[in-house]
Formats: sequence, structure tokens, C-alpha cells
Amino acid sequence: MPLTANEIRDALAGIVGSDGIVTDTEKMGAWLDEPRKRFHQTASAIVTPPSVEAVQKVMAWANQNHVGIVPQGGNTGLVGAQVPLSGREVILSLHKLDRIRSINAGAGVMTAEAGVILENAHRAAEAEGAMFPLWLASQGSARIGGVLSSNAGGVNVLAYGNARELTMGVEAVLADGRLYQGLNALKKDNTGYDLKDLLVGAEGTLGIITAASLKLYPLPQDYETAIVNVASPDAALELFQLMRERVGSRLNAFELIPWIGLDIQLRHGMLDKDPTASASPWYALIELTRMAGTEPGALQSALEVAFDKTLISDAVMAEALADRTRMWAFREQMSECQSREGASIKHDVSVPIAAVPALIAEGSAAAEKFAPGIRPVPFGHMGDGNIHFNFSMPVGADPKAFMAEYDEAMHEIIYEVVLKLGGSVSAEHGIGQLKTELLRQVKDPVALEMMRAIKTALDPNGILNPGKLLG
Ligand SMILES: Cc1cc2nc3c(=O)[nH]c(=O)nc-3n(C[C@H](O)[C@H](O)[C@H](O)COP(=O)(O)OP(=O)(O)OC[C@H]3O[C@@H](n4cnc5c(N)ncnc54)[C@H](O)[C@@H]3O)c2cc1C
Repeated sequence: MPLTANEIRDALAGIVGSDGIVTDTEKMGAWLDEPRKRFHQTASAIVTPPSVEAVQKVMAWANQNHVGIVPQGGNTGLVGAQVPLSGREVILSLHKLDRIRSINAGAGVMTAEAGVILENAHRAAEAEGAMFPLWLASQGSARIGGVLSSNAGGVNVLAYGNARELTMGVEAVLADGRLYQGLNALKKDNTGYDLKDLLVGAEGTLGIITAASLKLYPLPQDYETAIVNVASPDAALELFQLMRERVGSRLNAFELIPWIGLDIQLRHGMLDKDPTASASPWYALIELTRMAGTEPGALQSALEVAFDKTLISDAVMAEALADRTRMWAFREQMSECQSREGASIKHDVSVPIAAVPALIAEGSAAAEKFAPGIRPVPFGHMGDGNIHFNFSMPVGADPKAFMAEYDEAMHEIIYEVVLKLGGSVSAEHGIGQLKTELLRQVKDPVALEMMRAIKTALDPNGILNPGKLLG
């Protein structure tokens, strides 16, 4: 007989004390309400262990009693991975494990606990003259354990890689409560399977990350940032290649944004001033890092070449920090701004970089044919081949009727184009509960079997984030 919610609460309170558990329905809301408000389930309890040892005791108990555990960091995930599926699970919040255990800027490594807020990790690194280069719009709430477990990307992947590439080692509590001590700081370690790479990106289905050793980089002296006008995604692709040739690994970000994004933000008063030079069907936000001892001007001279080659028609360079902040606000508000225009259908997809123009052209054409008046809003990390391929409802449409009629079918249309171009149906947001069925349909069957075998070996009772990722 499965334990009742009351039995679960009593047992957990006995392990973590009454300070370590939340059961009041209203208070639990902060852990249950996820950003896109798509998933609505309750939980038996929220447990907030204050130490790694307490996490081990909770897991050992949950494993013996077959109680599902949903690990949670900042609750900013976009695919419902961090909230319960059945309503019987316990949410294990890591927010009390929030210490930076050590920082060595010279060696380029910082050890942070799972509950450290990403922005605090940035500050801690900067205080030592170093940089942890994983930047997301959710960095004020997202926590290291969640960022790693969702293998988050963000705006700096081009230069520094995603969470997996920024992690040197992890410490994790396994389903049965054992502690995996993998906090190494080795650039080279050729001793078998890469367990760190399994745990990072596992969405909490293989273990509870309690701490991680993270790569640090020298803090740039400055940034050179510009928004340029490009006629099309094809021109943007050529410009991207030119930038890579001219500035190499200093190219920090190359983000593509359509005119409609600017129009929406200006109409809804989301920007105090237009950050672009003039009207254009497409914009690219380009940023370079400038390290100590190097001269400024690399971006300007690369853009002059691009102008001569007619790849860009106009440009504005950030002259002061306020300009750079406004340019990035324009980019970061792209996802949020669509909600000001009613309902929207969203896709986080990637294709080989060379196929980005085809993705946008074919996907937009197919969508507009299927739903006349729909407004394509494809934007994002062009330099990573990762486009947030979103669609706003036609002007004046009824949001509920629009979603009911087009949401499901639009996903099929876009994923078909993505798969035809050799892409992925989840570039950086993960699978969670949103895309489990889709993963089953599109992932190589042998890969799925390998993933299931790993899951069964590490979590034989299926208590770690049940129903997520593999379904
Ligand atoms: C405004 C906004 C902007 C965003 N921008 C980006 C972006 O640019 N790029 C990008 O990649 N993502 C982005 N995201 C989504 C992104 O996945 C999350 O913001 C972040 O990575 C999740 O961190 P979190 O602490 O909130 O994790 P949560 O949402 O709490 O959890 C995410 C996953 O990790 C698991 N988990 C949490 N902690 C642990 C742990 N300690 N051990 C094991 N598993 C754990 C959860 O079970 C869940 O599966 C954005 C989200 C928002 C709301």
C-alpha cells in the first residue's frame, strides 16, 4: 500500500525537523507554480534539507518507501520538469544548500552548492576577478543544481559552451542515499565513463546534484556590442561567418531578432528608447569580449567590412553601459513580450547553423499556410543554431480559440521541418513533462533503450523525478 500524504509528512518531519518541511497548501504554491503556468499539480510536501547529509537521509527513506522525489532549484524551468506529475511526489528543494565552498580564480575553478543562485555565482566569481560565463534571463532565480540538471545554455554558449561544458565535476546523492563524490577539477580524466556528463542534463532523473566544480574564465576588461540591420536570415548567416573569420573566439554572442520583436516592445512601452539604428526586417545583436591589454575597435572594423560587402545596411554601437543594457534588454524581453500580444505557440529548437535560414523560411511558410494571419516571431541564438521559433496569434484573434485550434498541429508542422533539417526538438530547455511523448517519437530507439537502461541501473525503484524525460 502506498503511504498516505500524512504518513509521508510525518516521516519526513522526523528526518529534517519541522523547519525542513512545508505542507500548507498556500505556502506550497511558490514551489508548485511554474513560470508558464501550464502544469497544475499538488505535492505531498516540500522538503528543504539544510545539508548534504540530510539530503542523503531523505533519499534513503524515499527509496525504501517508494516515494517519488522531484528535485527543485529556482523553479524557473520551462518544460515542467521541476514540478510534480501525479501530485503524490515530494518536492526536494535544494535552496538551503547555498554556499560557495571554494574559489580559485587562478586555477579557473569554483565549487558551488546546488542551491546557489546563478547570479550569486557570477558575483562570487567577479569578486575574485574571474567570470562564470553562464548567463540566462532567469539568473536572478535559477540555481546551480537546476541550471546544471537542465544543461542550460543562454547567450554565451557560442564562446564558452553550455552548462555541461562549464562543469568539471559534480557531487550527487543517488536514489538510495549514497553520495557520489565527483567534485574534481581535472581538465583531463580518462578513467572511464563520464558520470558528470550523465548527471548534468539528466533533469533530476539520475541523482540529486548537491554541489559542482565549475569552470571560471578571466574577466573581460570590456565588451563591444552592436545591433546591426540585416535584410534576411541568409545575410545574418553570412555576417556570422564573417565575424567568426575576423574575431574568432572573441565573438561572445550572435543573436537574431525579427522586426516584429522591436515593434511589440516599443508599442507596449517595454523599452525606454529604440536600441536600433533604423527600421529593418531583421536585427543581429553582436557582442565581442575585450581582454586586458587589447585595443578596442575590433567590432567596428569587422562591421565596416560587412557594410562594404552589403551584408548590413545600418548599425549602432553601444557607447556606454546604458546602451549595452538596453540592447540586451531588447533581446532578453523577446520571450516575455509576446504575452503582451495575446497567445503564442513556442518551440525551442536547433538545427545545424547553416540550416537556420531554411528553418525560418520553411517553418514560417508552413505555419502561415496552415494558420493565415499567424505572426512568426523566430529569434535567438543564431550562432548556436538555436532558434526560439515562436508564433503570436493573429491580431484580434481569441487566445483560447487560437490555442485550441492550432497549438498541437503547429508543433507537428515545426518539428517536421526541424527533423528534416537534421535538428533537435529541444535545444536548451529540456524534455521535462512537456516533451516526453515527442521524445519517444523522434529519438533514435537504440538511444532510448540505452537511456532507459541507465535510468533503471541508477534508480531501480523509479523514485527520481518520476515520469519526466523518459516518461
Ligand atoms: C525568463 C527565463 C529565461 C530563460 N532563459 C533560458 C536560456 O536562455 N537558456 C536556457 O537554457 N534556459 C533558459 N531558461 C530555462 C532554464 O532551464 C532555467 O531558467 C534554469 O536552467 C533552471 O534552473 P532552476 O534552478 O530554476 O531549475 P528548476 O526549474 O528548479 O529545475 C530544472 C530541472 O532541474 C532539476 N533539478 C533542480 N535542481 C536539481 C538538483 N540539485 N539535482 C538534480 N536535479 C535538479 C529539476 O528536477 C528539473 O528537472 C529560462 C527560464 C526563464 C523563466
